[in-house]
Amino acid sequence: MSTSSASLSAIRRKIEGRERISPADALLLWREAPDEEMRSLASLARARFHAPNACTYLLMRIINTTNVCVAQCDYCAFYTLPGQAGGYVLSQEQVFAKIDELLTLGGDLVGFNGGFNPQLSLDYYCDLVRAIRARYGDRIELYAFTIAEFLYLADHASLPYAATAERLKQAGVRWITGGGSEILTEDFRRRHSKFKYTVAQFFAAQAAIVAAGLRTTATMVIGFDETIEERIEHLDRTRRFQDETGAESFLCWNFKPYSTPLGDKLGNIEITPAEYLRHLALSRIYLDNIPRIRTSVLTQNERALEGLLYGADDFDLPIEDEVTQKAGATINLNFDKILNVARSLGFEPTYRHVALDRSAKAI
Ligand code: SF4
Repeated sequence: MSTSSASLSAIRRKIEGRERISPADALLLWREAPDEEMRSLASLARARFHAPNACTYLLMRIINTTNVCVAQCDYCAFYTLPGQAGGYVLSQEQVFAKIDELLTLGGDLVGFNGGFNPQLSLDYYCDLVRAIRARYGDRIELYAFTIAEFLYLADHASLPYAATAERLKQAGVRWITGGGSEILTEDFRRRHSKFKYTVAQFFAAQAAIVAAGLRTTATMVIGFDETIEERIEHLDRTRRFQDETGAESFLCWNFKPYSTPLGDKLGNIEITPAEYLRHLALSRIYLDNIPRIRTSVLTQNERALEGLLYGADDFDLPIEDEVTQKAGATINLNFDKILNVARSLGFEPTYRHVALDRSAKAI
């Protein structure tokens, strides 16, 4: 037996014994384990939390409240600088129309995601959430907003994170998701997104959000120019945060490079579905403290459903996300066709009503 196969056997024994794997183990898995082995190990880890053929899904839309942004991330095709042509801010009526359409299609989750717009105060966001709660009550749930936006709002309002979280909570916010995290290493932030936040700020804000009694999620985006070591660092920081506080799910999607400065520089190449699935498997194995691992229909289309074989147990059926659509993502509103792909792979998808889930946060 070669040294690496002996090491892979040792890692398999750890996973079978529900023992945590190390960053070095993760690196070895990535470099040495065949795809079949990754899939098998991820299924073992998945089985700790879910029946083999069970999976859940959401029908949701992301509403992009404004495309005006000062952060200037080089992987973004969405933003317009203040004063440039094409900038917009949605009115409450425009937001309502988008929510009405979602309800008509049977969805009940709205994710908000927008630029860092210096013209919009914390009051704009609080008023928007209050108006939505007044109009729709508990018929929908809101992922409002992402931690990236939260950091900007706190900074813009010169408020501590705790006070910002409290203001949003009083307005009716229940979830602030881990959106906008891409790759959580300080070097990645400096390379591509130096005006957005530091990793230290990101986790300090997320801890304050949880301490305020709000719920949160973890996310990740791969396929920029990050190294495998950076991907593992992101997973490790996520796992450590989860040990201390609590995110309720982990969603990974892949970078859509089209019409972005970084994509132009790197030749507009996307990672393959096989690489995405392999990373999903690694995430399931590494994040042994997050029960819900989500696969991205938005960026992988029907291939995302294969993620259920690589450790995922949940997925979105999105009807809109301008940020990723502008960079090349495509949306398919034929939900039955997508669900049938899951069924053809041996899974029985069940609708997950976020709007009905009022349980206390799972820490
Ligand atoms: S990714 Fe978000 S924060 Fe970065 S430039 Fe685009 S809209 Fe702004």
